[in-house]
Amino acid sequence: MKLNITCIPGDGIGPEIVAQAKRVLDKTASVYGHEITYKDVLMGGCSIDAYGVPLTQETIDAAKSADAVLMGSIGGNTSTSPWYKLEPSKRPEAGLLGIRKALNLFANLRPAYLYPQLKKACPLKEEAASKGFDMLIMRELTGGLYFGDRFTKEIDGELTATDTLVYKESEIRRIAIKAFEVARKRRKSVISVDKANVLDSSRLWRQVVNEVAKDYPDVTLEHMLVDNCAMQLVRDPAQFDVVLTENMFGDILSDEASMITGSIGMLPSASLNDTSFGLYEPSHGSAPDIAGKDIANPIATILSAAMMLRYSFNLDKEADAIENAVQKVLEDGYRTVDLMGSSNKDEVTQVGCKAMGDLIVERITNL
Ligand code: NAD
Repeated sequence: MKLNITCIPGDGIGPEIVAQAKRVLDKTASVYGHEITYKDVLMGGCSIDAYGVPLTQETIDAAKSADAVLMGSIGGNTSTSPWYKLEPSKRPEAGLLGIRKALNLFANLRPAYLYPQLKKACPLKEEAASKGFDMLIMRELTGGLYFGDRFTKEIDGELTATDTLVYKESEIRRIAIKAFEVARKRRKSVISVDKANVLDSSRLWRQVVNEVAKDYPDVTLEHMLVDNCAMQLVRDPAQFDVVLTENMFGDILSDEASMITGSIGMLPSASLNDTSFGLYEPSHGSAPDIAGKDIANPIATILSAAMMLRYSFNLDKEADAIENAVQKVLEDGYRTVDLMGSSNKDEVTQVGCKAMGDLIVERITNL
């Protein structure tokens, strides 16, 4: 298969971690007989330095012409970088919002998986952590409260703020379809999270999700209220496979889910539109405090590349090969500096970013 990938290495540790993800992709392609072409483009702070804006039309065009986009992360030190003296619409993060909009990326997928080797990093009670967990939060990304009309005005002599939460049937349907499709690649269970005991938007959400479920009789569907879900995530996270939810609930729950894994450097993400196209990036930021030191953990980006193979190219075996290689490296006792606290120091070996890339590349085999 020919894979046409646009890369946005970005700022800070972005170029270091994307370089390792490319090496892993190249090894996977050579083992499984695929051909990859890459085009690197700028976005974020490096684009401000080169072109005066965080996102250029050239970058949007390069992303649109690719099968998928692999991103590092963008942004700098928000207290000291001159990028943050610019008005908000010209700062690095505006590039990210701009490209998500230009590519119509409405579905955000964030897996939260507790590696047995990193259990010590999990802040939950032993009985919850010992079972492990492997879930994926599917968050609607372009509708709801963050995109509704908002205003603040004086009513009856006092300032009154209004935010509107709007969902159209079509917006709910397309994300529900994504959730059921993704569940078919996993343990075939969807828990849809809403606040249907209070909100009209949630009642419509529940109705449309129930309709979509009829086309997926092989996938089980449950509904859960968001307040209960927030509790269940820390009480018994093993019960979740795919968690489907709207924009603001997903924003909060996906951070809660990533927190209980305890390892920010391990968490990939994907943002998809209604084709097979997607933008894949680690969940963490550009870590300017450790940029250029060859100590960043490249695994979140490498796992994002695995998600790209699974969701944009339907190459499940190849994605499994990358995920297995990561698992083996951890089993073999190698850790980047951010993971050292979750292991007994005398049982593991600390490695840098490039060495971690080497170790994963070595372990990619034809399964
Ligand atoms: P951050 O995620 O970059 O860093 C938080 C802490 O985690 C730091 O101590 C950092 O060293 C560490 N860390 C993060 N990723 C790591 C990795 N792969 N390996 C080892 N350690 C890692 O968050 P921040 O410091 O709040 O933000 C820094 C910049 O990143 C800001 O400009 C912010 O706006 C931006 N940001 C970008 C994205 C994105 O591109 N999607 C997301 C979040 C933050």
